[in-house]
Amino acid sequence: MKTVVLGAGVIGITTAYYLNKAGHDVTVVERNAHAGLETSYANGGQLSYSYVAPLAGPGVVPKIPPWLLRRDSPLRFYPKFDLDQWRWCLAFVAACNRPQAEISTVHLLRLAYYSRDMIHDIVAHENITFDYRRNGKLVIFSDQDSFDGARKTLDFQREHGSLQEAFSKQQVLTKEPALQHIESRISGGIYTPSEDAGDCHDFCVAMETLLRERGVKFLTGTSIDKIERAAHSRSIRAIHTSQGEIQADAYVMALGAANARVAKSLGFYLPIYPLKGYSLTLATKGFSGAPHISVTDGKFKVVYALLGDELRIAGMADIAGYDRSLEADRVSLLIAQAKATFPDAADYSADLKPWAGLRPATPKGTPIIGKSPFDNLYLNTGHGALGWTLACGCAKVVADTIEGKSTAIALDGLTL
Ligand SMILES: Cc1cc2nc3c(=O)[nH]c(=O)nc-3n(C[C@H](O)[C@H](O)[C@H](O)COP(=O)(O)OP(=O)(O)OC[C@H]3O[C@@H](n4cnc5c(N)ncnc54)[C@H](O)[C@@H]3O)c2cc1C
Repeated sequence: MKTVVLGAGVIGITTAYYLNKAGHDVTVVERNAHAGLETSYANGGQLSYSYVAPLAGPGVVPKIPPWLLRRDSPLRFYPKFDLDQWRWCLAFVAACNRPQAEISTVHLLRLAYYSRDMIHDIVAHENITFDYRRNGKLVIFSDQDSFDGARKTLDFQREHGSLQEAFSKQQVLTKEPALQHIESRISGGIYTPSEDAGDCHDFCVAMETLLRERGVKFLTGTSIDKIERAAHSRSIRAIHTSQGEIQADAYVMALGAANARVAKSLGFYLPIYPLKGYSLTLATKGFSGAPHISVTDGKFKVVYALLGDELRIAGMADIAGYDRSLEADRVSLLIAQAKATFPDAADYSADLKPWAGLRPATPKGTPIIGKSPFDNLYLNTGHGALGWTLACGCAKVVADTIEGKSTAIALDGLTL
């Protein structure tokens, strides 16, 4: 079966991997020079299988007005004359309630645990390196209310298989002594030993090399201009690219945030909107103050992961359309937060490699995988803040769906 994967981010590359394993003749079409150069490039690096609760949580709506007014807010809204932006925001607000958040969390946990099994299998059987570590994660809180809320989530998640522990301030500092500089604002933490970390871009590059060796064709530097519907059936006839027309038996849309507009051109709605985030990458060699386990700072919603001898720092969610430019005040804010938290992690006057990417986010936080309204077009999109974590599980599910096999996990809440 000839299958074309549209896009070579971490979602497209993992989809190509499982399709190749299943014996398909796979072609990957990507506008950049190689895989993993857009949202999968410098993300937070956390493989966060047990920390999947959606952004649309029960206490979020009252926090939105103060967040929008503060300059140091983790969330920023830039209103646009764009119906899709407002439609997405309204659906997001509607999803901000406990029952919906719990339903989404259960779906995401099921998918994340499956993904963990899949990536562990890849790590065990493929000869690839991407600064992968099984180092656990600590989420720290700076006020009692947030910590109490996190403990409730922990109890809920425990019923669904998460192994997490609530830590006192002292336990937090014992687990990660590099947090000593912010000791006075730590009220407690949640420790999850089973979380991993790894460099998503290095993973994409290593997988591209592996797949090329196995016969997967990569049409890089090739932009997809149009997907053409068949005249007399509900299927796709061809894709039109800068290198000409391509026909296949099946097509997988893995274009990240760009999927929403492509779906629109085909006449169906994908509830996906870009949430812009920022990251920094610090060289920690010669410095002793970087955290050894992954850390999420609940107060500022900033994540830290040690990738080899670099510290990746990521955060912010700006509802700002499709613009990927770096805003100086957002970069400065992230630097200030990182420096206050881990002042001895690196030389903060060096190049901190600021970067911004567009999370392909759905209002409920759950991705959209599997069948589309077209017989031979499949979806693998909407992974938001968890695309690296969920990639391998979603890719296997999509490959099994194309094969007509039953999937290893139930897909309720995860399809269009
Ligand atoms: C700041 C930040 C921090 C994050 N931290 C984490 C984290 O710690 N853990 C986690 O699990 N996830 C994290 N994420 C989320 C994760 O990075 C994304 O969910 C994931 O990278 C999305 O992958 P993708 O393949 O769908 O999109 P992309 O990586 O954007 O891939 C889509 C590909 O499609 C190509 N494409 C698009 N349009 C066309 C076209 N017309 N023609 C040809 N090619 C095209 C693009 O060039 C791109 O390569 C973070 C995201 C951000 C922004």
